[in-house]
Amino acid sequence: MRKILYINLKNKKVKSVHQYDEHKINLNNNNLVFEAPSLAGYGVVGLNKLKVYNKNSLSQTGGHFAHFMKCNGYDFLVFEGESDTPIYLYIDKESVKIKEASHLLDKDYDKVVESIKEELNTNELEIASIGLASVKKIDFSKIIFRNDKSCGKKGLGKLMADKNIKAIVLKKQENLIPYDISTLKKYNDSIAKKITNKSNANWYDENNTCYGCCLNCKNTSLSKIKRYGFSEKEASDINKISNFYGLDSVTLARGIDTYKKTFDTEIVDLENFIEDIINNYSYYKPLFINEGKFIKKNKTLQDCEKLGFCKLLMEKDIINDKDKKILAKSILGVSIAI
Ligand code: SF4
Repeated sequence: MRKILYINLKNKKVKSVHQYDEHKINLNNNNLVFEAPSLAGYGVVGLNKLKVYNKNSLSQTGGHFAHFMKCNGYDFLVFEGESDTPIYLYIDKESVKIKEASHLLDKDYDKVVESIKEELNTNELEIASIGLASVKKIDFSKIIFRNDKSCGKKGLGKLMADKNIKAIVLKKQENLIPYDISTLKKYNDSIAKKITNKSNANWYDENNTCYGCCLNCKNTSLSKIKRYGFSEKEASDINKISNFYGLDSVTLARGIDTYKKTFDTEIVDLENFIEDIINNYSYYKPLFINEGKFIKKNKTLQDCEKLGFCKLLMEKDIINDKDKKILAKSILGVSIAI
């Protein structure tokens, strides 16, 4: 059974519903959904995948947000309608508050985090936020999480801005208690060993980029940006400025490359150029039309991602189907279809 929190942004009412059939989630009216995997929240090594989607697009990210969504008790957050003023949502288990966010609107992720921590008088928060690019309704703006994680595909940041949601704030909570803690521990240890061959690695360090993983992979955006001919330093600058404004960095890199080739020019001041794009987006928009490549995934990867495991770990063949079934049963107490 999965728990869904519906947030009606129009009348500012929230309701939580338990549902067996997750396909019954209402995606009408362009609802925005945050989904945590059913096995998240219990401390499984390498299980951290968050999905963010509406009826037209889907984006996934690692990080810590999915874990803390589940620790607060929620599998899905479904945002319905639009708020008439900027808001942020604050979830502390059953206490769900919709708070005024006009004062945060032009702030970047770090400043939003700083202000909200001060306002709520606690550092124990996990925060997702949009940046200035979303507020300015840029099509390829993204939702930003801690440790430079983001969901960027096809303007989910813009959708969040259209709904007038500046941030989603989760109070950090203790891990959920699994059905069979000793079996879970055994499987967790075996997964950890297969990943690094170390039993004493710090899987749950707060500063790890992803929850339950100490590998701290380098950002894959950098290598994708470099495919457009940018140097390591240029790629890093594009990535950094994208995170500051909340833009999808690879789309931005592709647009800059097209601009340079079209006008046979160099970008002398990257920051000024990006600000110009944000402030005069209708002029620059043709540079950023998405090529929309379709990548067919193999079934094993799809299944593992559905459970919430990182796909990079799956490519290393970390657990087999039997392990997955036992792991799921040790957490939920019932068998699930794998
Ligand atoms: S392998 Fe890399 S991307 Fe995957 S969970 Fe670990 S740090 Fe995150």
